[in-house]
Amino acid sequence: LGKEDVVLSVEGLRKTFGGLVATDDATFEVERGTITGMIGPNGAGKSTLFNLVSGFYDPEAGSVTVNGVDVTGAEPHEVAEKGLVRTFQTPRKLEGMTVREAMLVGPRSQVGESFVSLFTRGDEVTTQERKNLEDAHRILEEFEIGDLAHQAATDLSGGQMKLVELARAMLAEPEILLLDEPVAGVNPTLANKLSDQIERLNEQGTTFLVIEHDMEFIMNLADPIVVLDRGHVLTEGTPDEVRSDDRVIDAYLGG
Ligand code: ADP
Ligand code: MG
Repeated sequence: LGKEDVVLSVEGLRKTFGGLVATDDATFEVERGTITGMIGPNGAGKSTLFNLVSGFYDPEAGSVTVNGVDVTGAEPHEVAEKGLVRTFQTPRKLEGMTVREAMLVGPRSQVGESFVSLFTRGDEVTTQERKNLEDAHRILEEFEIGDLAHQAATDLSGGQMKLVELARAMLAEPEILLLDEPVAGVNPTLANKLSDQIERLNEQGTTFLVIEHDMEFIMNLADPIVVLDRGHVLTEGTPDEVRSDDRVIDAYLGG
């Protein structure tokens, strides 16, 4: 791949927790314009890798490059500014907020300080804040959940929460969006809707890296697929290549 074609490059990443090696010399690239899948058995280190790539953890070795810029050791908001945004496997608690407010929690910073003033301050909203509000409404409409805007965020179903998470991440206008198990616990109707939205956004130019446990879902959505096992990239390829790879089958059965 040429430099211009690579939106995310991960090289030799390592992260340990006490004696446990969660990420072990992880190396791969995500090509611009793709929906790249990431699979691997429970505990393979998928979520840890997302935390390393998005600036939530500092790697003990290795590097992360976004759009040709080295972001190793950068803060989450700095990584977001370079164009990489992520969602969480477990959406954060949003008590006391409406969906619209939840949408505005740190859309551009990944940290969550930006919206507080808007709803507690009472004085003039800035041009940027007004734009964020308009964008939030537009994106909720595009996701066909505009009618949820003023509902309490805690009243949403798990599936609706995941849609709001995706919509919220899109507010940051990422070049690459990392989704950690977007359809875990989501009913099939909403899962299809999520899938459609990811494909629509991809056609409009957003690159995706998607962790998903649901094989059927990820094999239909993503190409290529990166397989992680014990913190290491075991192999990558098309869904068919990965599906028929004995090492992948062993990794899932071997535990
Ligand atoms: P996956 O997302 O592929 O299921 P994780 O990245 O969550 O895997 O976890 C990889 C390994 O690291 C697991 O053995 C897990 O128990 C361990 N781990 C993850 N996060 C932490 C943490 N904050 N502290 C200690 N161990 C952790
Ligand atoms: Mg995980």
